Amino acid sequence: MQNSSDSRVTEPVPILCGECKARPAAVFLTHVVDGKLVHRNLCAHCASPYFDHPPEAPSATFLSPPSVNPDFLARPRGCPESLALPASVSLDELSQKLRAKPFHILAVLVTHGVFVTGKQPLDYATAATVCRHYGVSLRPVEGVEASEPPQRG
Ligand SMILES: [Zn+2]
Repeated sequence: MQNSSDSRVTEPVPILCGECKARPAAVFLTHVVDGKLVHRNLCAHCASPYFDHPPEAPSATFLSPPSVNPDFLARPRGCPESLALPASVSLDELSQKLRAKPFHILAVLVTHGVFVTGKQPLDYATAATVCRHYGVSLRPVEGVEASEPPQRG
């Protein structure tokens, strides 16, 4: 029972976030709880509070900086060579432009110390960080840095 006409490679199932158990884990934390080492896999969303407000309780001391699954940081297939970015772009929009999954973008941003939620639009600098990470060169866009807007008519 083989369907040889469709030879798609099955994608490896990502490890799910231990917190929400819905999104793929992108950040791997190691900390100490009650004297025991605990490894946690979190999605970028669930990990963000740890970076904003690292727990101060001695029972939760971070031993190692978070590490991100390197698979999530690779340049996506079909990623364009250059991209024109608007002044702000939603996570979904940017991920479509870069042919990346939204959680890949979040993982890239985590490694650059930027935490965003999936809902707020990314500003130009944030989106540009992702593009530079993937080696995508940025093209200027109308409306951004328009020092001399073209006069028509
Ligand atoms: Zn999560």
